[in-house]
Amino acid sequence: MEGRVVMLDEMIETGRLHEACGIFGIYGHPQAAGIVYYGLHALQHRGQESAGIAAVDQGRFNIHKDMGLVTEVFDNGNSELTGDVAIGHVMYANQRSAVTEAQPLVFKYRGGTIALAQNGALVNAGEIRRKLEQQGSIFQTNSDTEVIAHLIARSKHDDLETALREALTVIEGAYALLVLTEGCLIACLDPNGLKPLALGKIGDSYCFASETCAFDLIEAEFIRHVKPGEMIVVANNQLRSIQVAEPKPSLCSFEFIYFARPDSNLTGAMSVHQVRKLLGKQLAAEKPVKADLVLGVPDSSLSAAIGYAEALQIPYEMGLVKNRYVGRTFIRPDSETRTRDVKLKLSVVQKVVEGKDVVMVDDSIIRGTTSQRIVRLLRDAGVRSVHVRICSPPVIYPCFYGIDISSRDELIVAQKTIEQIRLFIGADSLEFLSVDGLIKAINGSQEPPRLCLACFSGQYPTPINPQG
Ligand code: SF4
Repeated sequence: MEGRVVMLDEMIETGRLHEACGIFGIYGHPQAAGIVYYGLHALQHRGQESAGIAAVDQGRFNIHKDMGLVTEVFDNGNSELTGDVAIGHVMYANQRSAVTEAQPLVFKYRGGTIALAQNGALVNAGEIRRKLEQQGSIFQTNSDTEVIAHLIARSKHDDLETALREALTVIEGAYALLVLTEGCLIACLDPNGLKPLALGKIGDSYCFASETCAFDLIEAEFIRHVKPGEMIVVANNQLRSIQVAEPKPSLCSFEFIYFARPDSNLTGAMSVHQVRKLLGKQLAAEKPVKADLVLGVPDSSLSAAIGYAEALQIPYEMGLVKNRYVGRTFIRPDSETRTRDVKLKLSVVQKVVEGKDVVMVDDSIIRGTTSQRIVRLLRDAGVRSVHVRICSPPVIYPCFYGIDISSRDELIVAQKTIEQIRLFIGADSLEFLSVDGLIKAINGSQEPPRLCLACFSGQYPTPINPQG
């Protein structure tokens, strides 16, 4: 999925970040597609635009994918998805959203049929694509995943594993990749491990998921996280690990702050909820404020708000309520309608906040419009003061790894001073977590970061080619 694509309308409407994809795969289970369905269901927060499953049954590939939520795409049981090996994918929208872009992508080449599902974005996909096109390749999608398929197909090596390893030496950027063939399931993670990918087991069947929350739903045992630069081949009920590239761990720090579900674990040590509480505590240590109560912006900021409140011994209250039944997208033509849209998604519990000095904890500020609208809702409900505390550092630089922070022009912190942003959102005070504080809360120490912090620091863990 191409995170470089500007999802401008969506950013303008929501002012929030969006993840690009979630992937799930399983080997050697009689109801493989059914398990993948539940796995994708648990990963739905990573992408709501399309969903797809590919399964292999005695050499025959069965695939179903479409635009929509997992429950919409797989609404009739999809009994054609037989087979004991399967992979699946959920994708977030981009400007070119179409069913042709939905994954898994299935290709036939001289080595047989393969299906691929990827989370991430390659920084050199455009360059590789242009070279291959000059050599006569014809692409059917805009997907980076198809670039990987072409590299495999054009390899001089006949066996898939070697061809895939060769392709991995050419591509750069972020990828958590699942490859399905007639006889095996292969999982690969980029050398920086920018995206999470976990290995689990259900009975005798190995499975992979973008987040461990998917294992909980299917009652799989979490074994470990796939290592940066690792390829895991599952075939003949055996698992084989190959370290394809030197690991340079740089997991996306926004997975902890915003993307991952609170019940997932990304490090093996703590749940995302626990890490977010530490972010809130660290924020309280760095940027305390006297107030009557602390509230979090649902859902991703609730854990940090609890941590902030605990650290300062201020009551944590449910001052904002999320309406879970709002449709995903609709045309919002003017600012009045947009304000109403925020009210549709969020309500203020007036009796809780009225006449109070309130701390509003949020995960990030991207464009500032969402914060502005929530502060306005709180003021309309009669708060005495509202102090905004952001449990991430200011986002100043674009992301090239599959997150839709694609242009500095869209980032309010890159355009205005903190005081100007405070005035813009209408808060009494506005403070952010420091980069050192973020590292300390996630890593538990001040050691050199094992995280990607590029959207805060501009120091990218891979070479960057803004033209792709
Ligand atoms: S640049 Fe930011 S959003 Fe992108 S991978 Fe790095 S930390 Fe995550």
